[in-house]
Amino acid sequence: MSVKCSFCSNKAITKLRYAKLSLCSKHFVEYVEKRFSKIISKNKLFKNMDKVVVAVSGGKDSVTLLHLLHKVSKEFNFEIIGLTIDLGIRKYSVESVEKALKNYEMLNIKYKVIELKNKYGFSIDDIAKYRRKAGIKKPICSICGTIKRYIMNKYALEIGANAIATGHNLDDMVYYIFSSLYSGRVDNLAKISIYSPSEFKFVAKVKPLAYISEKETLLYAMLRKLPFNYNVCPYARLRTFHEYIRKTSNVLEENVPGLKITFARMFLEKINPILYSHYLSEKKFKECKICGMPTTGKICSFCKIKSAMEKVLKK
Ligand SMILES: [Zn+2]
Ligand SMILES: [Zn+2]
Repeated sequence: MSVKCSFCSNKAITKLRYAKLSLCSKHFVEYVEKRFSKIISKNKLFKNMDKVVVAVSGGKDSVTLLHLLHKVSKEFNFEIIGLTIDLGIRKYSVESVEKALKNYEMLNIKYKVIELKNKYGFSIDDIAKYRRKAGIKKPICSICGTIKRYIMNKYALEIGANAIATGHNLDDMVYYIFSSLYSGRVDNLAKISIYSPSEFKFVAKVKPLAYISEKETLLYAMLRKLPFNYNVCPYARLRTFHEYIRKTSNVLEENVPGLKITFARMFLEKINPILYSHYLSEKKFKECKICGMPTTGKICSFCKIKSAMEKVLKK
């Protein structure tokens, strides 16, 4: 016996236990779109903004984000510029970039592709191969994160954008909060936010999918037949702790529907603002001596990675 949609007589294709709804594909798509729009207005994510850079990797989350933002960009009155970084991760990057471009073309959105190897002389594959030799101690995913944030911010600053929107979903938020609590990184906790205001040479950052789960972004992309790279980054396999937390939080969610949303919301609305005012509002940034981008030291972490890689790759 099949379950019927809560809004019509069609067969339900998914059940959202946290919302006590069973939905057909049409009503699921509508439900996600309505929630997305509500999250934006409630958190005033695009208030007084006219130009927003959307980071599109070509995966399900960023592709869903691009389409959802495109739908609301008239209502909230901003222009979208797509940004795709070609990280140089073997076949994975080739396919990701190709999928990102397909979506820009579908929606007729202006975009920019920045090729890491071409512009800065090294790729993420080079980092994976030579980072020990170069004396870089951090794990690949964390270096890759630093690189992406740097490039996004620099580009958004150059074109005078008001914000950078990224596709971090609810499961990402739950993981960041949990892992930062677990390792006692208070500075990191202070940074986890759905909206980070612009300051010094940092462009504001928004995460409009912060309350939409990975399962929902995937289903949305599939039902709307959006082109996306369904492969996982080959280096993501190294993140076993991340995988355990993801699985465990979904087990908790099974038993307590709505737990992930409540956990993220309580943190973002009640705890983060206190941490932010204590730890970040006083932080003093300077310009990096090499590139002029913001840093708390003399040289920014991107320039440190770049110069370490240059030395190794020259040999
Ligand atoms: Zn329906
Ligand atoms: Zn620098």
